[in-house]
Amino acid sequence: MSITVKDKTFDVFINQKELAEAVNRIGKEINEDYAKKNPLLVVILNGAFMFASDLMKTLTINCAITFLKLSSYAGTQSTGKIRKLIGLNENIQDKDVIIIEDIIDTGFTINDTIESIQQYKPSSVRVASLLFKKEALQKPAQIDYVGFTIPNDFVVGYGLDYDGLGRNLPAIYKLIN
Ligand code: 5GP
Ligand code: MG
Repeated sequence: MSITVKDKTFDVFINQKELAEAVNRIGKEINEDYAKKNPLLVVILNGAFMFASDLMKTLTINCAITFLKLSSYAGTQSTGKIRKLIGLNENIQDKDVIIIEDIIDTGFTINDTIESIQQYKPSSVRVASLLFKKEALQKPAQIDYVGFTIPNDFVVGYGLDYDGLGRNLPAIYKLIN
């Protein structure tokens, strides 16, 4: 069934059951990989909040959570966009960090994020992303846990927005062209 968000039409792409299965699978992998550790989930706001919430409920290991926001602003030079992480602090030092992302598209955001987090000297850094647009990748990206590899279509729902809207949708929808 198609829906409208603002001025665009979207079709269901990944339903709730499929999302839950993927989240459970990733949770199981993390429970095994971090069996003797207490990882820190570092959630990249806003898009990853719903994935992070559902994922955390599947974890049976001891774990903590913190939230970061990326602020983008135009650089004064031709280097273009500079992204800064708000909310980062030394609490990350010596922690086993798992970055929780909604989607990896070109790969620039996750690379910037990992670089920023590394400055605080965590013990380890892994990346869990619900979605991965493999064909859109422009820069090699570290992705340790992935929910779905998807084509290069614009998607909304389950935390992801179109112009601020659509995050509340319980499934993932894709734009109909
Ligand atoms: P990247 O730097 O990998 O190109 O961008 C990743 C970010 O772009 C994501 O965190 C997300 O905010 C945004 N993004 C990329 N593709 C989509 C999409 O299909 N839908 C939505 N809502 N956001 C996207
Ligand atoms: Mg994001």
